[in-house]
Order: sequence, then C-alpha cells, then structure tokens
Amino acid sequence: MAAQTEESDTAREQTKAEQDVDQVRQRATRDQQRLDSGAVTSPKDLENLQREIASLAKRQGDLEDVVLEVMERRESAQERVAELTDRVASVQAKIDDATARRDAAFEEIDGEVASVSKKREVIAGSVPADLLKLYDKLREQQGGIGAAKLYARSCQGCRQELAITELAEIRKAAPDTVIRCENCRRILVRTAESGL
Ligand SMILES: [Zn+2]
Repeated sequence: MAAQTEESDTAREQTKAEQDVDQVRQRATRDQQRLDSGAVTSPKDLENLQREIASLAKRQGDLEDVVLEVMERRESAQERVAELTDRVASVQAKIDDATARRDAAFEEIDGEVASVSKKREVIAGSVPADLLKLYDKLREQQGGIGAAKLYARSCQGCRQELAITELAEIRKAAPDTVIRCENCRRILVRTAESGL
C-alpha cells in the first residue's frame, strides 16, 4: 500500500513538473514569435526580450532535469510495487493452500469423531450403568482416561508396576469383578497379556 501511494504521489509530481516545463516552453514560444514578428523595434525592448528568451531556455532545461529525476523515482516505485505485488500473490497462494489443507483435515477429524462417537455409544450401551458412571467419573478426574489396560503387570494408565500382593488378589478375582489400580485408581482391564 505504501509503495502504491509512493507510486501515485510521484505520478502526480511528474504531471506537475511536466506542466511547469510546458508553461515555460509556451512563454518562450510567445516571446520568440514577438521577436520574429518585428513588432518590437526599440533596441532596449529587443534586448530585454532576448534576455528573457535566454533565461526561459535555461529555466526549461532545469525543469526538464526535475522531470527526469521524478521519472526515475517513479520507475523505482513501480518496480517496488511490482515486486511486492508478486510477494503478496505468493503469500496468498500459501495461505490458500494451508487453508485448503486445514479444511480437509477438519473434515477428516469430523468424520472420525462421528464414527468414534457412534462406536462409543454402542459400547457404552452394553456397559452396566453403575460401571459407566464410575468410568465417566474417573475419566474426568484422570485427564480423559478412566480405564487402562493391565499389561505385563503394569497399569498402562499410570505406567506403574503393580505390587505382588495386588497381582495375587487380581488373579483370584472373578472375571467380571471391577478391579482398580492401587496407584491411580483407574479401572484395570485384564487381557491375555496382563502377566497374571
Ligand atoms: Zn494406574
């Protein structure tokens, strides 16, 4: 935006400088016509007129230098605008790409949430109400994990190995007894890999 403003400012400056040159040129042309017409006869007036024409020529040269200087500045402002426009386009392309990938990821996650929620609903329906209540309470207390696998004599919730006495009690417990980790209190799920 700043580069574009600079470009339009120098464009205006150039127009103004060119108008200045035109004015001086027109005045010099008028003077020259008066001189050529022969209407001015007094030597003093002729001398004044010639002096003015010379001075206008010098002035025109100076103003043309100003125009050139402004044009150079305008050109570099235009280059800067072009360069920044390219960069904006390239950054915008990256944003568009990242947005598209994010949206695709959201869609995938939403699909996964829907499918997992459905599975959970089915499983939760088969769990006794009091056990489900205990599980939900533990899950809330234990950072989202209410039940953990008992794997190789360790609770996979808190990663602690169970004491020998505790393991002995678990071995004796009936398959449908709800057992809990002594350490983190999570529900322990027994499998063939529990190391019992
Ligand atoms: Zn534990």
